[in-house]
Amino acid sequence: MSSKTFYPALIFTLLIFLAACGQNDSAEPHGADEARGMLEEGKYESKATKDEEGTEQAISVSEDIHMNVISFVEEDDDKFVSMHYPEFEVKEMDMLIEAFAREKLDVFNTLLSSENISDKFTPQFNMTFQTNELSENVFALQFDIDSYISEDVTFNESEVIMVNKDTRTILTGEELFGSDDESREILYNVLLENMKNNSNLAGYVDEEHLRNWVFEPTNAFTNVRFTTDSAIFTFSQSEIAAAAAGAPVVTVDLDDIRNALANNITALIDGEYMSSERAEDEDVEEAVEKPGEYEIRDLDPNSKMIALTFDDGPDNELTPEVLERLSNYEARATFFLLGTKVNLFPDVVENIVNAGHEVGNHTWSHKDLTTISFNEITEEIVQTNEAIIDAVNVAPVVYRAPFGANNDEVDQYITLKNVDWDIDSEDWLTHNPAAINEMVRANVDDGKIVLMHDIHRETVDSLDEMLSFLTAEGYEFVTVSEILHYKGEYGVE
Ligand code: ZN
Repeated sequence: MSSKTFYPALIFTLLIFLAACGQNDSAEPHGADEARGMLEEGKYESKATKDEEGTEQAISVSEDIHMNVISFVEEDDDKFVSMHYPEFEVKEMDMLIEAFAREKLDVFNTLLSSENISDKFTPQFNMTFQTNELSENVFALQFDIDSYISEDVTFNESEVIMVNKDTRTILTGEELFGSDDESREILYNVLLENMKNNSNLAGYVDEEHLRNWVFEPTNAFTNVRFTTDSAIFTFSQSEIAAAAAGAPVVTVDLDDIRNALANNITALIDGEYMSSERAEDEDVEEAVEKPGEYEIRDLDPNSKMIALTFDDGPDNELTPEVLERLSNYEARATFFLLGTKVNLFPDVVENIVNAGHEVGNHTWSHKDLTTISFNEITEEIVQTNEAIIDAVNVAPVVYRAPFGANNDEVDQYITLKNVDWDIDSEDWLTHNPAAINEMVRANVDDGKIVLMHDIHRETVDSLDEMLSFLTAEGYEFVTVSEILHYKGEYGVE
């Protein structure tokens, strides 16, 4: 669990969520049923759009709106969960986003409980997000969600939430669709056509009810959600089709309904957001300067050394505090970064590198590499190295597999050196500075690598004591490349 916990008020937030941007009147979050339905119909396909927008359109969060990332990384015997979503310190918006993320995890857990899980496979849930500037005052949060239920059952989806920077609110369906008759007529025709072409719905469409629904002046379009290229309408049973059709889900191409959207939204969908070619063009024009690498310092090989490592960052709030603690002891460390967060907080990465620390690759989205394909592994690693090079023009030469899960097969695909750890501080488990220090104290020795995470407040709080103790014991704080250089291979593998 990260420094933020999910409150007991979750049920409340879910209710608010459903009322504000969820379903009409269904009592259950739509996600689980829908996901199951889509799984059965084979509609979950690999996403085509992941990160095609590239880094160019990431919002400058520091200038426009303050953003933190809530990270929830959990490993146990049953499953791996890695979930990252934004927090803007705007209460209503944060509640909706948290409820959204929570609901996606609930879908995963529901699917998990309905599957027979083999002992050999660890199911995992993975959620990352990126920000894309849509217009001067609107940006999109694109959530990429990958779930691995079993060897045969996986699903991916990309969902988009649009945020109005000026009002600091999530755009509602009401704001997204044009209110004039012409816009509504377009929407009606597209929905009708889609339903008629859908063999599950074709015979059941209630055209009059559908028309009334579309043209209803008070329609707030709360049943619509967006992906990068489609709008998905989820209706209640009997709302616009005969009861026998169940609760219809109608997916339409954004292209088809662009003229049904409010003017400012049409402009943004027609604009940069949907054009990945433009981002690629800009890439080509960038000056190419060969990236540097971490330089190993000239140290006395006989001195006692320890390598502190911090995974799962950079964090907008906590990483700077870690840097401050380290600098008080002139300690160097290694930060194994998630590409998705490098993309969000390049300034923090710059501060890490400028302070003399080493940066390593911890993949893009923290997936268990042993369960994904060669192409996905490559994407996870390459994309992250590129993001780090983009941010600081330094190329990592080390990587750490998420959850420490790797094998020879994975390693042979990755040219970076895999670096595990000798001492797990268990900060992710205990969330207790005294316990964290006890783990380190009990296991410390010359040449050891310590695993910590700069996404937990308690880890930051453990550092003063740790640095002070290890200094008193005569340890020099070095990076992983340095410890491997001077002390040779460590005990793992
Ligand atoms: Zn990790």
